[in-house]
Amino acid sequence: MRLPKFPVEGGCQCRAVRYRITAPPLSVYNCHCKDCQRSSGGTHTMSMFMKREHVELLQGDLIPFDKAADSGRVVRMFGCAQCGTKIWNEPQSFRTMLVVRPGTLDDMSWAVPVGNIWTASKAPWVEIDERLVNFPGQPPDRQPLFDAWERFVAAG
Ligand SMILES: [Zn+2]
Ligand SMILES: [Zn+2]
Repeated sequence: MRLPKFPVEGGCQCRAVRYRITAPPLSVYNCHCKDCQRSSGGTHTMSMFMKREHVELLQGDLIPFDKAADSGRVVRMFGCAQCGTKIWNEPQSFRTMLVVRPGTLDDMSWAVPVGNIWTASKAPWVEIDERLVNFPGQPPDRQPLFDAWERFVAAG
């Protein structure tokens, strides 16, 4: 997949929140944990790992939604103050990163997931591509997902 020319933009459902990303992500992958199923109302969410300095809020107000992760840590998700669309979260383990929900990009066609995490709790009808980098639960380290994205981008 060829990446777009950055910056690219995205936003929430009601258009109050708009943001820009100025460089490619470090990885894109799916999470099939139960919390992501609840939060999305679907089979999984997508995570796009960004360096914080490459994400700019252009307009609108984001409000925090905290949830306790299974690890006991608090995950702080940010969503539009008007419509509640979740836009990104701040991973406690990576203070310099933001995990953006790529479905909020105006064009997500290039944001192809290179892996899956928490496949042990996936919905039974979701098929996991075994060629991707997959983990049954929380990956001990995200480097394999970052490496997979690099290979994907290098393959053009
Ligand atoms: Zn909104
Ligand atoms: Zn999850």
